[in-house]
Amino acid sequence: MLKNAWTIGHVFGIPIRLHITLLLILPLFGWIFGSNIELFAEMLQLDPADLVLGSYTIGFLLGIGLFVSVALHELGHTWMALRRGMNIRSITLLILGGIAEIEDMSKEPADELIIAIMGPAVSLFLGIGCYALGVSALNMVADLRIFLLYLGQMNIVLAVFNLLPAFPSDGGRVLRAFLARRGNYLAATKTATSLGQTMAIIFGILGVFSGNILLLLVAFFLYIAANHEYQTNLLSTTLAGFTVADLMTRDVVSVPAHHTVAQLLAFMYDQKHTGYPVIANGDEVIGCVTMQDVRKVDPGQRDDYRVQDIMASNLHTIEPRADAFEALTKMSQEQIGRLFVFDQDELMGIITRSDIMKGFQLRQIEKRERP
Ligand SMILES: [Zn+2]
Repeated sequence: MLKNAWTIGHVFGIPIRLHITLLLILPLFGWIFGSNIELFAEMLQLDPADLVLGSYTIGFLLGIGLFVSVALHELGHTWMALRRGMNIRSITLLILGGIAEIEDMSKEPADELIIAIMGPAVSLFLGIGCYALGVSALNMVADLRIFLLYLGQMNIVLAVFNLLPAFPSDGGRVLRAFLARRGNYLAATKTATSLGQTMAIIFGILGVFSGNILLLLVAFFLYIAANHEYQTNLLSTTLAGFTVADLMTRDVVSVPAHHTVAQLLAFMYDQKHTGYPVIANGDEVIGCVTMQDVRKVDPGQRDDYRVQDIMASNLHTIEPRADAFEALTKMSQEQIGRLFVFDQDELMGIITRSDIMKGFQLRQIEKRERP
């Protein structure tokens, strides 16, 4: 889950979060939209002098309107994903749009297609709705008409822009779903990613030549996002079939909670692992201690502190039957390097990122050796 975001409400029981970058960009958007208002009014043959609110106030309201629109677009995806039986962790509104974090994204092309299409469909519906309202209601105050027409236009742009086949945009996902019909999901992702990155480069070049900073930003994020999606897919596809039990380290060495940090360090030298479960009252696991925890203690005070003083007491755990990719996802979401593998109350092993990467490399070698 993204950090630096605040939950502002819940829809369908899913937290809607506002990322800090959005609060920073909102005044800029307000200013950009605000400086277009007079021109926009003239294009509509409205007299800017009729406006009750100032241009920049309307611009700011439009900024808010845009992000509400983006939220509705994401809710479109979310609603369909829920209907298809998936879990959604959260929706985060960011600087350049939204992210619906779908926990267990289906790899069924038909599911992906309908989920991808719902967002732009919502935007298009909103766009046409706002536009129709703004055009038809002539006795409205000029401010409201401008607001509706401008917002309508932005929603239509949002729909069209998202439908470009620039993976991982919605259009790119539609393309991948189409390519994956024949069954090779990874190859389809690879093709969609290449196309996405090519389009990102084209956007970047257009952004430089037109001096459009927003387009340049979009290009930059798109390129990175496409690469990230491809890597994630490569991992999930290659690791498919591996469970946590297949890759974990089984003979776990624990450290007693009452040992001093100096003792712990000597033990670490001996064992060469970087993280250990901490035990007390016999063999009850009460926490986890890592190299980073040791680093926080001043070298002169290593005899004064005990393991229990520096350990983390919230245990991040996973079941042995869980997928290895699920373990990896959990580690990156919680920004940790290892998970304790518990079957009921019994500690079965530890799984680290490098355990999983070993499994990944083995699979890749295996694939290469196949005729
Ligand atoms: Zn979308």
